[in-house]
Amino acid sequence: MEERNTLQKEIIYRTLREMSCHPTAGMVYEQVHLRHPAVSRSTVFRVLSRMADEGKILRLELGEIHYDAQTAPHDHVRCRVCGAVADVSRTELPRPGCDAGFLLEDRTVIYSGVCPACREKLQ
Ligand SMILES: [Zn+2]
Ligand SMILES: [Zn+2]
Repeated sequence: MEERNTLQKEIIYRTLREMSCHPTAGMVYEQVHLRHPAVSRSTVFRVLSRMADEGKILRLELGEIHYDAQTAPHDHVRCRVCGAVADVSRTELPRPGCDAGFLLEDRTVIYSGVCPACREKLQ
């Protein structure tokens, strides 16, 4: 049982790594299901959520939850037309102060924009 779980976790992680589109758990499940129909939808959702809790992958709250296998610090842009998500390299910003005394640890920046495919259609 333990071995099967590890194998399924591997399959799910590898599939996420192959998808550069910052998929939702449902999108990851669809990909996993094509090649590994024995892996259940609830397993995919549970494994992704746990890996995000453990910091092995990123969880992006974009209304729906999306996942990202790339954990190096970077920001994101979401297409305001079709919802596609892509990486934005992070530029160093001066660390702001917090009058409320919080220790600031990380920030989440989601840019809004228009993806290349939608830009073409808009022209
Ligand atoms: Zn778009
Ligand atoms: Zn990303």
